[in-house]
Amino acid sequence: MNCRSVVRELSNYLDGELDLNLQQSIEVHMEHCEDCHLLVDTTKKTIQIFCNSEPLPLSDDVRSRLHDALVKRLHKPRT
Ligand SMILES: [Zn+2]
Repeated sequence: MNCRSVVRELSNYLDGELDLNLQQSIEVHMEHCEDCHLLVDTTKKTIQIFCNSEPLPLSDDVRSRLHDALVKRLHKPRT
């Protein structure tokens, strides 16, 4: 498991749609990767805010745009 895999599986992970093995790999990775821990935590909170303000669940369109934005952010060179 690496950071890119975490980002790739992020929406499935948050939806609880992953294999138990994959889910555990992400959790193990997060334990020693602050970036991914923050990413998952922030995304989870963002989705909760969306869900609380909207009666409908996050649409696929919104989810994929959020996902793209996160991927771009992760791939930015560090300063
Ligand atoms: Zn990571």
